Amino acid sequence: MSTRPPYTSTTNACKLCKPLGASLVFRGIEGCVPFLHGSQGCATYMRRYIISHFNEPIDIASSSLGEKHAVYGGAANLKLGLQNVTKKYAPQLIGVATTCLTETIGDDVKMIINEYEAEFHKGEGHPRIVPVSTPSYAGTHMEGFNAALQAVVEQMAEPVEPHDGVNLLPGFVSAADLRSLKELLDDFGLPFTLLPDYSETLDGEAASDYPLIPAGGTPLAAIRRMGGARLTIECGATLPDKSAGASLQQMHGTPLRRLGMPVGLRETDRLMDALVELSGREVPVRHRAARGRLIDAMVDGHKYLSGKRAVVFGEEDLVVGLTSFLAEIGIRPVLCASGGKSGRLQEAVATVLAGIPGEMPAVREDVDFFDIEEEARGLAVDLLVGHSKGYTFARKEGIPLVRVGFPIHDRLGGQRLLHLGYHGAQALFDSIVNTLIAKKQDDSEVGYTYM
Ligand code: SF4
Repeated sequence: MSTRPPYTSTTNACKLCKPLGASLVFRGIEGCVPFLHGSQGCATYMRRYIISHFNEPIDIASSSLGEKHAVYGGAANLKLGLQNVTKKYAPQLIGVATTCLTETIGDDVKMIINEYEAEFHKGEGHPRIVPVSTPSYAGTHMEGFNAALQAVVEQMAEPVEPHDGVNLLPGFVSAADLRSLKELLDDFGLPFTLLPDYSETLDGEAASDYPLIPAGGTPLAAIRRMGGARLTIECGATLPDKSAGASLQQMHGTPLRRLGMPVGLRETDRLMDALVELSGREVPVRHRAARGRLIDAMVDGHKYLSGKRAVVFGEEDLVVGLTSFLAEIGIRPVLCASGGKSGRLQEAVATVLAGIPGEMPAVREDVDFFDIEEEARGLAVDLLVGHSKGYTFARKEGIPLVRVGFPIHDRLGGQRLLHLGYHGAQALFDSIVNTLIAKKQDDSEVGYTYM
């Protein structure tokens, strides 16, 4: 435990802004435009982070509030903004996330939208509008992400007849992860709804014309039917009791199964077991083979990894998955840290490490990189595993950083990093081993010799 006196500033936060997470969810829905009720600066900040990670343009509309709206309220701007977005984009859905300013002044966004719809939604052909409350001073991008998911299913899922589909709520994963999950469910022959799905909207093909709304995303019709699914699989070991999956269960009776994020061998095995049970099929050959190759690689690579000590940081659910994976390949996680504060990280880490010999790592929630550096000092760390905001720490201490999660803005292809499933574990494994070998070579006086 840190011995420094308490202070109230944040130095290089290990989290991002709450409506940013909501914007990502809205971008993962077909025909949807994310809309921030707040200042233009908020939208610009979020676009900057998303664009530098995904290398894709993203339009985030804004009600463009200024100083006077802090006094008189932002209702008129919100209504005008909704009209403009409807005219310019012809969206199927507008996802409205609040910001610090509009939460502070107390705009009643639901009431404003009701007034707007009564005024302007006459007849057919108007977009659905889904508001979500995302005050960033009271949460992280992951809380915004989960709140938006919950708002979408609560406001859009309709009472429907039971059907054979499965809902998959994977959490905040990469575009490549989303594609791999869709392939996995296809391989099991399971009809599914993946929410959100920004695998194409934030990692699309080159286009000669800039589409105002990129193709792809979870279809609205599929979201409306989510309540009738035979099961919702919700990934995340630190999710709150109130979640999109819990809302579907409560409002529509949709059975819910919670699993950890499928990072590494054992957490992926758990997902596979669930899919085997649901589909009545064996694990498809290519996934079984990938599992076998992963174990073979573990045998080949263990000599480079055994006894190494790692700090893991980022979103809580990803930290839990990575901690599980590192421990099963012989690396000792010594510090697991997140800017999130679910209150569940410690227990989730202890659960995934149960049965693996060695001391429990230090687990810290609600920390920034000042805290992480302080905690890591003296832990003889060999490796950092986390997003690009840890680069300053890595450079200062001369510790290699394996980049995972979000944001990755100092390397190309963060959206194509694969973390999930056996294939994702293989990619992570190779990256970790090669990073440690490279570090050894760089530190060596003689450099590379054939080993
Ligand atoms: S933290 Fe608040 S003020 Fe800053 S970008 Fe996010 S919503 Fe806007």
